[in-house]
Amino acid sequence: MRILFKSVGAVLLVSLVAAPIAVTAAGTGSPKLKRCYMGKYKGEKVVKTDAEWKKVLTPEQYEVLRGEGTELACSGPYWNMHAKGTYFCAGCGLELFVSDTKFDSRTGWPSFYTPAYPENVATREDHSHGMDRVEVHCPRCGGHLGHVFEDGPAPTGLRYCINSLAIVFVPDKK
Ligand SMILES: [Zn+2]
Repeated sequence: MRILFKSVGAVLLVSLVAAPIAVTAAGTGSPKLKRCYMGKYKGEKVVKTDAEWKKVLTPEQYEVLRGEGTELACSGPYWNMHAKGTYFCAGCGLELFVSDTKFDSRTGWPSFYTPAYPENVATREDHSHGMDRVEVHCPRCGGHLGHVFEDGPAPTGLRYCINSLAIVFVPDKK
């Protein structure tokens, strides 16, 4: 009985502190993913209502992922990140990018020359704000990630310009 009480207490504690941690993560820290989906995207879909997304995302993450917002340059935690590891979708945990393909684009946004797997990002034409761009989103949950431009480095010549708020970095295990 005593053990049971302890574990219930721990669960309550986690749920109480989870929200504030997630909110501050938009600035300097990293939000935690409940589950990561490594490897090639297999075609499954994650569908939630706006109300459900608001429960699992911070307001800042929601604005980017579901509202197609763009964080201010140099404001996110990953534009200047050089550690080795993997970047997952902040909405659903799908593996999106790996650090080996990250490069310094001098834009203030995390930039990659290719996704982890071609299947793991989806694109569509975006003519909003008077610009002709190619929008990039997660194929699994539909979350907006950023845009892709054709001014990146070799070997692809592509620059995936991604919002830090749309991704979660998990460092490689040493
Ligand atoms: Zn996703």
